[in-house]
Amino acid sequence: MKTIEKEAKKMGMYENVMHQFNRAADLMDLNPSVRKILAIPNTEIVVNFPVKLDDGSVEVFKGYRVQHNNALGPYKGGLRYHETVDIDAARALATWMTWKTSLAGLPYGGGKGGVQINPKNYSTAELERITRRFTYALGDNIGPEHDIPAPDVNTTPQMMAWIADTYMSTKSTNERTKHAHVVTGKPVGAGGLEGRDRATGYGVVVGIKAWAKHKGVSLKGKRYIVQGFGNVGYWAATFMKQNGAILVGVQDASGTIYNNEGIDPEALHNFIGQNGGMISGYIDATVMPNDLFFGMDCDIMIPAALGNQITADNADSIKAMVVAEGANGPVDVPANDILIAKNIDIIPDIFCNSGGVIASYFEWLQNRNGELWDLQEVLEKLEIKMNNSFKRMLDAAEKYNTDWRTAAFIEAIARVEQAYLQRGIFP
Ligand code: GLU
Repeated sequence: MKTIEKEAKKMGMYENVMHQFNRAADLMDLNPSVRKILAIPNTEIVVNFPVKLDDGSVEVFKGYRVQHNNALGPYKGGLRYHETVDIDAARALATWMTWKTSLAGLPYGGGKGGVQINPKNYSTAELERITRRFTYALGDNIGPEHDIPAPDVNTTPQMMAWIADTYMSTKSTNERTKHAHVVTGKPVGAGGLEGRDRATGYGVVVGIKAWAKHKGVSLKGKRYIVQGFGNVGYWAATFMKQNGAILVGVQDASGTIYNNEGIDPEALHNFIGQNGGMISGYIDATVMPNDLFFGMDCDIMIPAALGNQITADNADSIKAMVVAEGANGPVDVPANDILIAKNIDIIPDIFCNSGGVIASYFEWLQNRNGELWDLQEVLEKLEIKMNNSFKRMLDAAEKYNTDWRTAAFIEAIARVEQAYLQRGIFP
């Protein structure tokens, strides 16, 4: 029974992105040939690879990389380490990446992948061997001008450094250093970009600020809740605090906490650093039942964990004015329509969390051109790009008289459609 439920949930993720795609394709009258191409990923790679564990035994892991489309440039997107990673999840997430990079105006297509594990069950040395062996198994299916991975759920800058090192080690001595941009999200000392760590969370707040400006409201004193306090949730909370907003509720895999007076993002972050990454046990807040999280009294909700979290089961209870999608696919299609009917704004994922891949693009350029960018420059350029996307999304929403998500998809799809129409189909 449990397995069936899990399977149904995962199938829903791909269905979700295809539903979003079809809605936009119908409205924009997408060219039928291009529509057929975009309705399915270009390439799906599944690798089974052995790794020696610390106790000397061998475990075989399953890794995925789905390359959805590369009409605009190399495949781009993260690798996640999570038990829910399977071919359907990778397919859905790769497809979202195509729309995310296109909307952002980047010269990239979309890809995504990962390994079906809970990284908490492995030591650092084991995670290093898993990461290196996965990279080796992918071989030239990834590459700096072909497919460029990055961090995603549960993957870290350190892991990106291992990917770069492993990939580069497979090249001849002469070629080696030319390949550092095979992966982005590396630590700054290993070719990474200043600010890539905070870019997704920063971008979520750029999106929320753009929303607030559009609505004529101020973020000062606004109460908000965050699901997931990993990289995206923590940095989004940090920048929300800088804008005067108050964090009142947080949920993660270990539980739900609430404090009407506000939870300090930095204090919570420090706590979870000592607590295996979990919020449970944080003393400066009250523990709440998990199922009350989405109905908490707040102005802004930031789902920054996994997909399919806001569904028909809980969408009705939401009191926030706006849902800012830090995660990929956190709102499923039925919930999306419930929120729209309730007049709750949705800042859609392919725009809202695009700060990460935009900064990845800067890192890729930095490596490719032998440059070093500073933090201020990165954040300023990121903000300009996101504000441009926001404006295009708003214009499309007006032109097609539709919601922001569909408008964002139309903008993104139109760019890919144009590339196909101009270039034609080989042979
Ligand atoms: N994993 C992130 C995302 O879903 C970043 C991808 C990237 O930087 O390539 O957008």
